[in-house]
Amino acid sequence: MPRPLVSIVGRPNVGKSTLFNRLTKSSTAIVDNEPGVTRDRIYSSVDWKGYVFDIVDTGGIHFDSKEPIVKSIREQSFIAAEQSNLILLVVDAQTGLTQDDEFIFKLLFKKKENIVLVVNKADNPSFELSSAEFYRLGVSDLVPISALHGNNLYELMDTIISKIPLVRDEIKPKYDYRVAIVGRPNVGKSSLVNLLLNEERMLVSDKAGTTRDTVDSLFKYKKKIILLTDTAGLRRKAKVKHNIEQYSMIRAFRALSNSDVGLVLLDATTDFGNNEDTIFQFAWENGVGIVVAMNKWDAIQKKHQTINELKERFFRRYPYLEGVPFRTISVHKKQRVLKVIEDVLTVAEIRNKHIQTSELNKWLQNLWEHRPPPAIKGKYIKFQFAVQQKTAPPKFTITCKHSDLLPESYIKFIEKQLRNNFNFFGVPILLEFRKK
Ligand code: GDP
Ligand code: GDP
Repeated sequence: MPRPLVSIVGRPNVGKSTLFNRLTKSSTAIVDNEPGVTRDRIYSSVDWKGYVFDIVDTGGIHFDSKEPIVKSIREQSFIAAEQSNLILLVVDAQTGLTQDDEFIFKLLFKKKENIVLVVNKADNPSFELSSAEFYRLGVSDLVPISALHGNNLYELMDTIISKIPLVRDEIKPKYDYRVAIVGRPNVGKSSLVNLLLNEERMLVSDKAGTTRDTVDSLFKYKKKIILLTDTAGLRRKAKVKHNIEQYSMIRAFRALSNSDVGLVLLDATTDFGNNEDTIFQFAWENGVGIVVAMNKWDAIQKKHQTINELKERFFRRYPYLEGVPFRTISVHKKQRVLKVIEDVLTVAEIRNKHIQTSELNKWLQNLWEHRPPPAIKGKYIKFQFAVQQKTAPPKFTITCKHSDLLPESYIKFIEKQLRNNFNFFGVPILLEFRKK
C-alpha cells in the first residue's frame, strides 16, 4: 500500500511552514515575518508511533508569482485534494476567521471531506478558547496548536493517524525514482533544474531559493514522478567562499547515495578530470545508475568528428562505464534536454529490472558451453546455478564448485556478458560467487 499523504494548506503566513518543520522535526526552514518566506523542504515523511505518512507543505509549491494569491491557493488546494488522504487546513487563532479561510475551506470541502482544521498560533489558553469560533466553518475536527511553541502537537499527530489509512511500513516515499543532478560547480546544474521545473510537467517544487543546500523537487515526466535532488546553489551562500569543489563533492556524495540515478553533468568548455573520476567512482560503487550529459554544447566550435572523438576519449578514461548513456546538450538552447530525462528513466528502469531464474540459467549454461572458465590446477569449474537476488542495483549470485579459483579476468568477462545479454547498461552490477 502506498504511504498516505497529508497536505498542509492555508493562506500565507498562518504558520504552515513552521508546522511542517515541527512535524518533520527539522529546523531547516527559514521562518520570518514576511509572508511567503523561502522554504527549504516541502515534502517529507513522518513516523509517528510506528506509523508512517508523507506530508507536503503546499504553501511551498511554486506557482507563477504574478498570479493573484487566490489563484495559487486554488491551485494548491487542488493538488492537495487530488493527491492527499487528509488535509490540514491551517488558520490563525490570533487574527480569527477570515474570508480567505472560508474561501479555502469551501474550495477544499467540495473536493475532499477529510479535513482537520488546525488553529495555529493558539499560544496560550485564551487563544485556545477563542479557537472555538472556527467551528462556524462546519468542521468536525479542530485542533488548536502552537507550531511555534510546540503546544498540542501530540494531539494533532494522534488526530492525523486516526484519520488516514495506517501503514506500518518501511519508509517508501511517493515518487518513482530519485535522481541526483551532480557535477562540478558551474557546469549548469541549476540552469538545468530551472529549465525542467519551468516546464509544465512540474508537479511540486520549492520556491527558487537562494540559501539552500540541496533541494528536492518533484518532476513528472511520462507518467513517472522523479524526485530531483539539485546539488547546486551552495556557492551562493556567502560564507562558503573556499573549498567550493570539496563542498560540492560532499553534497554530490550525499545526494548520490540516496538516489537511483546520478545525472552527471560535464561542461563542453572544460575538460573532465579528477572531479568527475571521483563522482563516477562513487556512484558506481554505491549502486547508483549513471547518465552523462555534456552541457554547453552551444559554446564550442564543432567539427564533424567532434562528438565521436569526445565519446571515445570519455569511454577510454572510464572503461567501466561502457554503455552508459552519453549525450551532448545545451540547456541554454534547450537541446536534447528531455532526451536526457528519457535516458534517466531508461537507466532507472534497467536498475529495477529482474531477470527470471530460468532465463538466467539458460544463458549461463550457454556461456559455459561456449566459453567455459579455464581449468585451474587441474580442476574444472562448473557453474551450478544463477539467480538474480535483488534489483536496484541488480545483484546476481552464481553458485559453483571451486569459485575461489575463478580468475579475475573471467569474472569481468561474465559481468560483461551479463550486461550485454540482458541489457544492463548504465547501472553497476553486483556479482557474487558462492561455493557449492
Ligand atoms: P506560512 O506562510 O503559512 O508557511 O507561515 P510561516 O510558517 O512562514 O509562519 C508565518 C509567521 O508566523 C512566522 O513569523 C512564524 O514565526 C509565525 N508563527 C508560526 N507559528 C506560530 C505560532 O504557533 N505562534 C505564533 N505566535 N507565531 C507563529
Ligand atoms: P551550476 O553551478 O552547476 O549550478 O551551474 P549554473 O547553472 O549556475 O551555470 C553556470 C554558468 O553556465 C551560468 O553562467 C550559466 O548561464 C552557464 N550555462 C548553463 N547552461 C549553459 C549552456 O547550455 N550553454 C552555455 N553556453 N552556458 C550555460
